[in-house]
Amino acid sequence: MVEEIRQAPELAGPALARTVSELVAIPSVNGQHDEAAMAASVAKRLQAIGCDVQTIEVKPGRPSVGARLTGLGPGETSVVLNGHMDCVPIGDASRWSVPPFEGLVRDGCVFGRGACDMKGGLATQLAVAQFLANRRERFGGSLVLHFAMGEERGEPGTLALLEAGFVADLGVSTEPSNLELGVAVRGLLNLRVTIPGIPAHGGALDGSDNPIRHLPALLKAFEAEDLRVRKVEHPLLGTGTWTVTNVHAGTFASVVADRCDLIIDRRLLPGDSIEAVVARCEAIVAEVTGPGVGRVTIEDAEGTYEPAEVAADSDIAQAVAGAVEEVGGRRPTIVGMGYASDVRNLVNDGGIPSVTFGAGDIAWAHAFDERIEIDALETAARSLALFAWQTLSVVAK
Ligand SMILES: [Zn+2]
Repeated sequence: MVEEIRQAPELAGPALARTVSELVAIPSVNGQHDEAAMAASVAKRLQAIGCDVQTIEVKPGRPSVGARLTGLGPGETSVVLNGHMDCVPIGDASRWSVPPFEGLVRDGCVFGRGACDMKGGLATQLAVAQFLANRRERFGGSLVLHFAMGEERGEPGTLALLEAGFVADLGVSTEPSNLELGVAVRGLLNLRVTIPGIPAHGGALDGSDNPIRHLPALLKAFEAEDLRVRKVEHPLLGTGTWTVTNVHAGTFASVVADRCDLIIDRRLLPGDSIEAVVARCEAIVAEVTGPGVGRVTIEDAEGTYEPAEVAADSDIAQAVAGAVEEVGGRRPTIVGMGYASDVRNLVNDGGIPSVTFGAGDIAWAHAFDERIEIDALETAARSLALFAWQTLSVVAK
């Protein structure tokens, strides 16, 4: 089968590059163009391949697309490939040396916003679906495909697909992993601490309460908490962190502030629970400001990412690593992903053992002149095709 996969034109670099170019030319910046045009293009491609396709309106004008391709051979196993359709803004256009939404091919790369994060991954998903569709009578079970809205802001694009029944036994997020194998991902929680005050004229302080007076003790306590958190090390992810990223108080030079707000960026390791971190923050704030004074709220519930992890020797990790090695001759390194992604939805919400594997260097994601290497795209597509084939096929090896 490896030879057949190596020869398959639908998994070859030029075909993948063409798809990435076409997808980059459909701008899908989160909050700017949104995902509807991308979703329509993706759904059309999936229908042409022969998948059962469902478009789910997650937010107004912002759909996710789910698809299923069922083999005609025996077998019940299912595999999901997950990617997101949205991308981040281009930033200062004058800093780009290539047009950001044309999908220019040059120097063995496709350029443009979203090429790496992650229209390259979406192109590999479509290519794997095409490869299996061309051999439908030779595999069993089903290939499930996620094209999610809203990943860049932690919106429920993947969650909606899982809830609509696009679930599977094993999963791969095709986010850029530079062809290494991601088995663990840190989580992110932003907390807001609000200390109320009683405002007054700076020259007539009677009856006022300045909330800024709590800041020194609060910052000291948070620094101690950060040190405590950083003592726990994960072999692939390093440590969690507790960082005060924003402090705001006051509206006018001669007025005592009516409130003081701090925002904490808390990176989470697998095993950290969001409830426990919130409770910990509440305890620290109560100790510093007195009980019932300072308030702790989750700053962006939707933008909260739970950590996730599967074992390096799990079936899914071994199956993908084996396929990558057979195709490319090199066993991928087991890595932790420094950035949060929807793989946490697959693992935590879907209960689907899942890894991250895809072409592209994360250094190019969200960067000026974003790009993805075509050779790497081909390796990713052929590896995922072999993984899917080996997992779904019981009649041919
Ligand atoms: Zn991404």
